[in-house]
Amino acid sequence: MSGFLVLLAQAAIYFAAMAVIFNFRTVIGIGVFYCVLGAMHFLETYLAAVFFIELPFGLISPGSTVMFAGKLAFFLLLYIKEDAESMRQPIYGLLIGNVLMVVLAMILRAYSEPVNLPGYNPDLRFLDQIGFLMIWGTVLLFIDLIALVIIYERLGALVTNTIPGRIFISLAIVLSFDQALFYVGLTLLTGVPVSAFYGGWIAKIGAAGFFSLMLTIYLRFIETTAIRARPQGAIDVFDRLTYRHRYEKLVERIGKDPLTGLQDRGRFDAQGPKMLQVALRSERSVSLMMIDIDHFKSINDRHGHPVGDKVIREVANAIMRTKREADELFRYGGEEFALLCPEAPPGAMALAERIRAAVEAISHPDLDRAITISIGIATFPTDANGIQELLTRADSALYEAKALGRNRVFSAAAAGQRPWP
Ligand code: GH3
Ligand code: MG
Ligand code: MG
Repeated sequence: MSGFLVLLAQAAIYFAAMAVIFNFRTVIGIGVFYCVLGAMHFLETYLAAVFFIELPFGLISPGSTVMFAGKLAFFLLLYIKEDAESMRQPIYGLLIGNVLMVVLAMILRAYSEPVNLPGYNPDLRFLDQIGFLMIWGTVLLFIDLIALVIIYERLGALVTNTIPGRIFISLAIVLSFDQALFYVGLTLLTGVPVSAFYGGWIAKIGAAGFFSLMLTIYLRFIETTAIRARPQGAIDVFDRLTYRHRYEKLVERIGKDPLTGLQDRGRFDAQGPKMLQVALRSERSVSLMMIDIDHFKSINDRHGHPVGDKVIREVANAIMRTKREADELFRYGGEEFALLCPEAPPGAMALAERIRAAVEAISHPDLDRAITISIGIATFPTDANGIQELLTRADSALYEAKALGRNRVFSAAAAGQRPWP
């Protein structure tokens, strides 16, 4: 069989297998595809150094050509169908994995010479060579893939807007660049002749043509769901937040107060009734503390809003440090916090007092007095039947605490009786 047919057969088998694994990623997980890419990456480096396939006109091609070009093509497909982040993961994995492998092999190498077994002929020079090629090849791959995405995105706007054109041009440019640099490494190590450079280059361009055709067929007929919108600009491909990442960040931000990082009023409205339901089912109590900073307006007026903001954050931190795991803290309003704790008054009162003391103990070098808080407590189900009533009762308790001189805890149960402690 001529060398050309060997390469073509390899390319067809490679593409078919990888496309099937990629296409079924929603069923079997993308991890399978990543692992196969990793295994191929290892084999490729080995084949690059030991196999050369003869092509017409006296050219020879390294045995890795098809797999290497195919790998780039599939990374591009990963970018087109998934996102830059999905593409970044295997790249970093390959880089770290290859460096680790070489380090571990070097330790073994320093430890001993291999044993001599009959019929076994280890080639240590080869082990050294392949270690260097592994790292060199993977570093190049890293650069190649960034370039691949940038060229794919830029050329899309500049040269051609057809998918096959964009895939072919970006693959061909990156493969040419890679062939030049990889050949330099290969020839320094193994002294392969320059015909391996041209042969490999021609084979890679051929492979670029083959794979762009195949990818186009794949995109057109096999995985036909809409191609992801082209993002603007292509600088910092791997740093740029991808859509999924952005979405997760957004979800993370929803319900969080930006100043303190605490859960916000909306979360309270959602969480509060749930906590009461749980308490009802397990026949336990939930206490609500409304916490308000004393004379906060005067801090703003005298020191400015930025200092006021800092005080709000410090108070939030002090409450966070003092509350227990099961207690849920919310920033309810400007300088008001709501704390839901699954506990009846004795424990809840003690906690409130600890919180009050913790806030009073914060030192404020830029203020002339201590910051204090007042806390109103009401408990479900003894003081209220639902969240609305609980809020009202806790609020009036807070009002009492303020009226009694601030910097204190007052409970709804004690209304009309003496304040606590
Ligand atoms: P009291 O002891 O009765 O609670 O007195 P107070 O001055 O704290 O009165 P009040 O609770 O009504 O004051 C709320 C003030 O908090 C009014 C508003 O200007 C300020 N504020 C609300 N949100 C913020 C914020 O995010 N940052 C800053 N710096 N100030 C805020
Ligand atoms: Mg207030
Ligand atoms: Mg206040």
